[in-house]
Amino acid sequence: MVYCPECESNLDIDEDEVDEGEIVTCPECGTDFEVVTVSPLALKAVDENEYEEDDEEEDAEDGDYS
Ligand SMILES: [Zn+2]
Repeated sequence: MVYCPECESNLDIDEDEVDEGEIVTCPECGTDFEVVTVSPLALKAVDENEYEEDDEEEDAEDGDYS
């Protein structure tokens, strides 16, 4: 039995049915989880906002040429 780390409902998946790196979705709360390891089965929540943290600022241009 595998339980959702978020809502603790039964995800109804078997260790034999998934591979490492596979994404499973909780039918109850809709959270996506990546299978980290299959033995023992470990899940990690997928961070969909990962690429939004890229807000580098370019303030090197002061127009200070002469
Ligand atoms: Zn859930």
